[in-house]
Amino acid sequence: MNWPTRWVIASSNRGKLREFSELLGDSGIEFVTQGEMGVSDADETGLTFVENALLKARKAARATGLPALGDDSGLCVDALGGAPGLYSARYAGEHGNAQANIDKLLDALKDVPDAERTAHFYAVIVLLRYAEDPQPLIAEGVWHGRVLHERRGEGGFGYDPVFLDPEQGFSAAELDSALKNRISHRGRALAELRRRLDLG
Ligand code: IMP
Repeated sequence: MNWPTRWVIASSNRGKLREFSELLGDSGIEFVTQGEMGVSDADETGLTFVENALLKARKAARATGLPALGDDSGLCVDALGGAPGLYSARYAGEHGNAQANIDKLLDALKDVPDAERTAHFYAVIVLLRYAEDPQPLIAEGVWHGRVLHERRGEGGFGYDPVFLDPEQGFSAAELDSALKNRISHRGRALAELRRRLDLG
């Protein structure tokens, strides 16, 4: 690969820096967050996950001159026509209020029986080699499950306590984090990114 060996992550979240560094640690690439380089978050004005991921990556690539990784994710519930979807982080109004988001979701599904509570987490990660790159690398991951009637488990974040993985028989908040990272939408998107980068 004939690219610069320093890439910017279009996020200020150090958890994402750790995740990318761990997963692509053998690539020889050094990662830096846009926050460390003084770049603020992009406005998420896209109408699809991939548009938002591209908006984030493009802003970071333009501001830093480095290849940029952007990502977006959310929970899509079939009985709600795919909601909260793109608006997962701010479903109940305030950005990132997981308690309020879960309360709103459980209320919206209160009369919906188990068989119709199917849902999936979706994640997309894009890589732009430069801001005007016409051919971004796009990696996706999906995690299928069901929305529980009440919270289960203490781990994870966001909607994890009410997302059941029927194969595991546990909520995402009850899963060991290494296992979650392997089977989750983000884990699958990251694995796909590795394959697309020819890292095996
Ligand atoms: P973003 O990709 O950082 O914009 O996050 C979108 C939102 O989707 C988060 O704030 C969570 O509400 C939800 N979300 C995405 N991935 C997960 C997950 O693995 N567990 C629980 N909630 C998630």
